[in-house]
Amino acid sequence: MGESTIFKKIIDRELPATIVYEDDFCLAFDNIKPQAPTHVLVIPKKEIVSVDDIAEEDEALIGHLFVVIRKIAAQLGLADGYRVVTNCGNAAGQEVMHLHFHLLGGRKLTWPPG
Ligand code: AMP
Repeated sequence: MGESTIFKKIIDRELPATIVYEDDFCLAFDNIKPQAPTHVLVIPKKEIVSVDDIAEEDEALIGHLFVVIRKIAAQLGLADGYRVVTNCGNAAGQEVMHLHFHLLGGRKLTWPPG
């Protein structure tokens, strides 16, 4: 096995994070370098590298993550709208090799992204 990712260390409480939600399958915590007033990262506890590595057996888990994202968005008062983003691979600028969804909100978000 290779070195644990930063996010695996957060799951295992080896690194600190401001956790906003947790259940048996996922964890959500504040981004250390927020790009919007709300910038939460939602991750599965299962070690999946990226969208490219999602297996058929992960369908329910990925659906669960989106239900959690919707609940966190409501809990954080993002009624006016929010964005959910995942970077997959080098060209998209993925830095942490553990699947994560960025939940961004609290300001007007422009399109297209960079
Ligand atoms: P990505 O470029 O999609 O892989 O995004 C990785 C994100 O993880 C970046 O937005 C970082 O700011 C964020 N990040 C890196 N280390 C930490 C950490 N220890 N706690 C919270 N967020 C982090």
